[in-house]
Amino acid sequence: MTVADAVPGVPSSLVTHGPRTLRRVALTFDADMTPGMEKALQTGKVKTYDNVAVRQILRATHTPATFFFTGMWAETYPKSAREIAQDALFEVEDHSYDHPGFEQPCYGLGNIPEAHKAANIELAQAAIFRVTGVKPRYFRFPGGCEHPQDLTLVRSLGLIPLGWDVVSGDAGQSDARIIVRNVLQQARNGSIIVMHSHGGKAPATALALPAIIAGLKARGLTFVKVTDLLSPSGR
Ligand SMILES: [Zn+2]
Repeated sequence: MTVADAVPGVPSSLVTHGPRTLRRVALTFDADMTPGMEKALQTGKVKTYDNVAVRQILRATHTPATFFFTGMWAETYPKSAREIAQDALFEVEDHSYDHPGFEQPCYGLGNIPEAHKAANIELAQAAIFRVTGVKPRYFRFPGGCEHPQDLTLVRSLGLIPLGWDVVSGDAGQSDARIIVRNVLQQARNGSIIVMHSHGGKAPATALALPAIIAGLKARGLTFVKVTDLLSPSGR
């Protein structure tokens, strides 16, 4: 039995939320890295894709969270990747090796040949394990773009495909108030909220976080890691 099968009301394919009966939500942060982003770092066009302020706020507010690393991000920021993995407040999962679009079109993300998909996911698993010592259990498709067959592929690799039901809209958004409003309007019991921890084109994530955390707490919602959100024991 998979985790998804164990949660009533959760589809057996892509997991997008936890039980609606418990007042819990999961904050998730994707750490994207593509060859193009790597180039922007090398040429000095972008200073960093490591938004340190996100985890500082999470720690200061004792807020558990789940990070989805691309393999390339873990390799680019090994110290930060380890620091996140070693913090009991956080958990680390798989967001592909270099962030291709598994189904096209996908917000301008690069294409990946069918035959390379499994290797890309396994390359990420290996990179994340090598850097952090963690073996991810969940996989998130870049851009949330997938073909139904890709879900089967992910499961065949022993991973659970995990999406979201709350889009924070922090990618490409410089107005923190809009991000806060998006999350507070959509979040409910069992929600999985997608945000980004790479800064760059998601520049206002950390600015929005305090109001998101305070706003959802005020509604009686408790933040948990994805694994806990989907735990049948309801811990
Ligand atoms: Zn992503």
